[in-house]
Amino acid sequence: MSRLRSTINLAPVAYHLAAVRRRERLSHAEQRDIQSRLLRALVRHAYQDVPHYRRVFDASLVEGLRSAEDLSAFPVLRREDLRELPPGELLAAGFTPENTRAATTSGSSGIPITIRNSERDLGYLRATYLQDMLGGGVRLTDRVAYFRVRPFLRHPLERFGLLRNFHVPTDRTLDEQVTAFLAARPTFLIGFPNVIGSVVEELRRRGVRYDGVRTVLFGGERLTPTAQAQILDHLGAAHQEVYASVEVFTIARTCPEGRLHLRSADLVVEVEHADGTVSVEDGEGEILVTRLHSEAMPLIRYRLGDRVRITPNDCSCGVARTPIVREVIGRSEDRLVDADGRRFYGDFITFAVQDFPEVSRLQVVQTRPGAIEIRTVLAPGARADVTADIAAAVRRVLPDQTVTVRQTPYIAPEPNGKIKIVKVLDPAREDATEKGRAADV
Ligand SMILES: [Zn+2]
Repeated sequence: MSRLRSTINLAPVAYHLAAVRRRERLSHAEQRDIQSRLLRALVRHAYQDVPHYRRVFDASLVEGLRSAEDLSAFPVLRREDLRELPPGELLAAGFTPENTRAATTSGSSGIPITIRNSERDLGYLRATYLQDMLGGGVRLTDRVAYFRVRPFLRHPLERFGLLRNFHVPTDRTLDEQVTAFLAARPTFLIGFPNVIGSVVEELRRRGVRYDGVRTVLFGGERLTPTAQAQILDHLGAAHQEVYASVEVFTIARTCPEGRLHLRSADLVVEVEHADGTVSVEDGEGEILVTRLHSEAMPLIRYRLGDRVRITPNDCSCGVARTPIVREVIGRSEDRLVDADGRRFYGDFITFAVQDFPEVSRLQVVQTRPGAIEIRTVLAPGARADVTADIAAAVRRVLPDQTVTVRQTPYIAPEPNGKIKIVKVLDPAREDATEKGRAADV
């Protein structure tokens, strides 16, 4: 097993990239065949080499597994498991903190977890990201700006002036981010929509016109159509999107028609419905993901925390032939409470709000059971009475709640940089500070 390198080794990236590109051109049935083969090998590897799976998997189920449909008899891996299991329980034999690289994420749930990847896993990760960029139309001559907290490792092609990386540090002040952005003179942007949006808003506020960007590759949270149009119109750029996470890499990627197709040959996506039944790559419910290329720390049936709606492929693009992620409906833990104490998913409320073209950002906040506050950032020149119309629209879909609409200049991201579109304040912890912040605006 090789030690980790401090720079990117391109050979495994090139190898994985060729494989990823080849697999993604196959029919859905061919991709499912590859998926089944990789899944059998992964589950056997996990059972033989990973203490946790050795304990919780049933030997006869491991032996009998043929395809993703058989996974439903296996236990789900929760985010909490990753925190609570002793270190090493999820690492495969031969892998240690010394020969793997850690990636930590807190997600929207606020539960920080650490994933460990081997050099081979990282080669696959980089190939996936490179394919995301190639799918988004990146050229070797592009100057790529990553909006993220930490910079990426350098890669050797940069020495030849190819695919040059620039870092816009999203944990710094907006002024520093704008300075980094303008100094980079990027042609291709990658990042969460809200952080890119903040920089673009600041450019517009300063009257700075920067028209060098060809494409923006969005990942992370959803954006209102108005906010997305503001970013793309100001930059004069095209739009691509990926549905990805630190733990399982890229789950789905937009095709030329703008639809998010699943990456069936590299991941198993199961959907757990409200009644407890599970479908493979279909329906609405909580997403469970198995990343098929993961040797150091396999995550099998990992509960990512998102709710999704997936339908069979009916896209005319002809490029991707896998099922389509229609919606990432939001984090499952952000469930609102009505006056009777019943919990429900509040994402539908955002649709009543985002249909107003004056709304460039929004957040649905539950301040106490039965009371909802809609926080909106309005586009310049928005009519004064739009907040009353928004309140009326929300009351139509939410007649039993007390609804208030608050105009605010800014919606604060969570510590991970993403914005929670539907957020429930925990009265014990957050309420006081959130109220203080909201009162300022
Ligand atoms: Zn398509």
